Amino acid sequence: MAEDYYSLLGVPKTASLDDIKRAYRDLALKYHPDVNKTENAEEKFKAINEAYAVLSNPEKRRQYDAYGPEQFGQRYNAEDIFRGFNFEDIFRDLGINVGFGNFSNFSSSNDIFDRLFSQGFGTRNRGIDEGQSILYRMDVSLEDVAGGAEKGIMLRHVKKCDRCSGIGAEPGSRIIKCDHCNGSGYMTIVRNSMFGRMQTTTTCDKCGGTGKVYEKQCRQCHGKGGVVGEDKVSVKIPAGVEDGMRLRLKGMGDYSRGAPGDLFIEVHVQKHKLFRREGNDIYAEVSIPFYVASLGGKIDAPTLHGTTSIEVHQGTQPGTKVILGGEGLKSFRGSRQGDEIITVNVSLPKNLSKEEEELMKKFRDLDSGSEHKDRNWFGR
Ligand SMILES: [Zn+2]
Ligand SMILES: [Zn+2]
Repeated sequence: MAEDYYSLLGVPKTASLDDIKRAYRDLALKYHPDVNKTENAEEKFKAINEAYAVLSNPEKRRQYDAYGPEQFGQRYNAEDIFRGFNFEDIFRDLGINVGFGNFSNFSSSNDIFDRLFSQGFGTRNRGIDEGQSILYRMDVSLEDVAGGAEKGIMLRHVKKCDRCSGIGAEPGSRIIKCDHCNGSGYMTIVRNSMFGRMQTTTTCDKCGGTGKVYEKQCRQCHGKGGVVGEDKVSVKIPAGVEDGMRLRLKGMGDYSRGAPGDLFIEVHVQKHKLFRREGNDIYAEVSIPFYVASLGGKIDAPTLHGTTSIEVHQGTQPGTKVILGGEGLKSFRGSRQGDEIITVNVSLPKNLSKEEEELMKKFRDLDSGSEHKDRNWFGR
């Protein structure tokens, strides 16, 4: 998920425009790639500029506040965000020298801007050829984690249009010259940057660089190649999967004629009523009557596969731990198989029958005291 713009700039949500400007100025000076050569400076500089481009614009800020970081990021790409954002003006406004002036600390080379931001547009731009990836949150049980599982989900997404087989053309349509780029396959874009006007050439988004398009668009998908619909998707949950892990199903996101998006399954392991998980180990508690603890014997203990019979020794004390080796979870990362650790609790009777009371009294009288030397402690 994208980092929150406010925290990126280190300002509260209620910050005034002046606060935002001041915070941005300090950070931009600190992380400008001309002065900061540390590894993550470029990424940070890009992120700061993106945050400022949004928060310094009242309309964009209002939308950002309304949608929140995640949804905002889905709605707007870098080009939307930087539209009308002129770095040169902004830096001048903040008293930072850029350009060819002798007093500037910063180079004016176009390639910095190109390197930092053009790539950004390329990867973040959701062009016609790139399908959106989808995040799906899935609850799984500890039993699923133990044995692995296969789950079917109904996924609502952009699926391949069956009328045109995802091509976008009406069946039987002729191929003609692209009217968008006049058959050249590329387009020229001019934009303002902190280093002045920049002209870049990009692939035509209508014909994808081929210069040719179909004469008639598919009636069902209107030329997009995809339509919104539901698909049954089978998801394999690997044994040992950890809470919060994301499984990637390549190409199962939104369909697109170019690269379809991926489907990410975020696994949420639900709380279990009997077991607590710690890494690959699982913990459970078992309560046994006091006479079983005293005499020893076989008891039933829960496992992830059902129940198993375990032996408790004579004189088992409350809190005794019994380890069932290998009864834990399989490791996702290939390390050792986990164990099950059972804590044995001893339950005492609340109400005694007349006969039980007699036996207890007899037991009290028989108790030699070898274990309870301090008899006064028992009120005798
Ligand atoms: Zn179609
Ligand atoms: Zn074209």
